[in-house]
Amino acid sequence: MGARLWRLTVVGLLAIAGSGVASVPGRAQESTHFKTVPAPGPPPPAPSSPPPAQVEPEPRSEQPNGTPPAPALATIPAGPVVVDSASVTSLRTLTRIAFDLTGPIEYQVFRLRTPDRVVIDISNVEFAMPPTAGRSAGGLVKAFRFGAFAPGKSRVVIETAGPVRVAATRLIREGARGRHRLELDLVASRSADLSESEVAAARESAAGLHLGNAASLAPPSAPSPSPSPSAPRLPVIVIDPGHGGVDTGAQGAAGVEKDIVLAVGRALEKALTAAGRYRVVMTRSNDAFVPLEHRIRIARQHEAQLFISLHADSLEARELAHAIRGATIYTLSQSASDERARRLADKENAADLLAGAHLSTEVVQDDVKSILFDLMARETAGLALNFRQLAAKRLRGSIRLSRDPQRAANFLVLRQAETPAVLIELGYISHTEEEQQMLSAEWQRKVAAAITTAIDDFFASGSSIFR
Ligand code: ZN
Repeated sequence: MGARLWRLTVVGLLAIAGSGVASVPGRAQESTHFKTVPAPGPPPPAPSSPPPAQVEPEPRSEQPNGTPPAPALATIPAGPVVVDSASVTSLRTLTRIAFDLTGPIEYQVFRLRTPDRVVIDISNVEFAMPPTAGRSAGGLVKAFRFGAFAPGKSRVVIETAGPVRVAATRLIREGARGRHRLELDLVASRSADLSESEVAAARESAAGLHLGNAASLAPPSAPSPSPSPSAPRLPVIVIDPGHGGVDTGAQGAAGVEKDIVLAVGRALEKALTAAGRYRVVMTRSNDAFVPLEHRIRIARQHEAQLFISLHADSLEARELAHAIRGATIYTLSQSASDERARRLADKENAADLLAGAHLSTEVVQDDVKSILFDLMARETAGLALNFRQLAAKRLRGSIRLSRDPQRAANFLVLRQAETPAVLIELGYISHTEEEQQMLSAEWQRKVAAAITTAIDDFFASGSSIFR
C-alpha cells in the first residue's frame, strides 16, 4: 500500500544547494531522492506556533578526525516530529545523506564497526517513509534502515561501503513552517578507529535501550500473574514476532518480515485468547525494537509453557527465489541440521548486531557450549521436538511447507532452559506469490488457526510442563 505513494526521482546538486546549504565543490554525479506523501498520523506542529528556539540556522562547521558532533539541542514542540523523506546524493568525494523533518529534533551521530555503520539516534520522531526506502542508495551509502529503537528514541542505521568519516552534520531550518533538514556528509576514511566519544555515545545509547525496555518488560495488557486461588491457572504462551523497529528483518518486494510476523502474531494472539484456555504474552505488539535477550527474559518472567518465535525467510540468490518456498519449524540445536539452517540462524542471530544494539561481536563460546549442553539434557528439548511435530502436522493441512519442514539450528532466541521453544519461518518473502499470500489477512488467520490447534494438541497430549 505504501509502495503506491512512493516516488523515486533524481535531483541534481542544484536542489541541494538551493536549500541554503553551503555549496560543495564539484558536480553532483547522482542523487536519489526518496519522498512520500506524509502518512496519516500525528499532525505536524501547527504553523502558527514556531519553535521558541532557533535551531542551528547555519551549517555546522566541518568536524575533523571523524569526531562525532555533539547532540544538537533544541526546544522540541509537543507531538512527534515526522521524517517524511530522505535523499542520498553522491558528490565527488563525499556522500550526503539528508532527512526532511516536520520540525526540529535532538539527535546524536556515531559510528559502529563490523560491519561499518553510521548511526543517528533521534528523540521523539516518527517515520512516514515506506519500509522499502533506503534499501539501495548510492556513493558511500550501501543502504539505510530506520525505525523505533527504544522508548522515545528512533534510530537510522546507515550501512556504508567501508569505513567512513562523518565530515559534517547540519540541522537546517527551512522556511517559516518549522520544517527542518538533517544532513550528514560522509567521506571515505582509511582508518576505521572510533574516537573515545563515539564509543561512549554508542555505549550510552545501548544502555538506554536496556533501561528503557527493562521498564516495559511486563506488558501492561497482561493480566495479573497471581490470580485468585480459585481461578484456574492458565498456561502462558509467549508469542514472539521477530524483528521490529529499526530491525526490519528480511525484505520482500512489497513488504518486510517485521510487519508480516507481527500481523500473524496478532492473529495468533486473537485466536488463542478466544479459545480461553491460555494466557498470551506478546514480546512485542507494535513496531518496537526488542533485543533477543529481552524476548527470552519475557518468557522467563512469565514462566511460559511454550515460546513461539515467528519469522519469514528470504533467499538472497535471486535465480532460486521463484523455486524455494514453504514454512519450516526449527528447534534449538548446537549443530544445524544443514548448511542452509546454519546460515539462517546466523542471519537471525545478527539482528541485534545490525541494529547496533549489541556492541560486542565476541561471544563467549565456552559458555554457550555449556548452556547448550545443559538445555539438551533437560526435558524442554524433548517437549520442543513434540511441539515441532504437532505444528508441522497442523500447518501441513493449512499452508505450504518446505521440503524438509522440521529442522534445527543454533538460534539465540531459542536458548531457553525452562520453556520449550520453537522458531517458525512462515515462508519465503523472496517468493513473489508466497509473499502476496503472507500479506493477506486470510492466510494469516489460517496460520493462526493451525498453530492454535497444534497448541491444543500439545497441551491435550499432556506433554507440557506443569508448573
Ligand atoms: Zn527473522
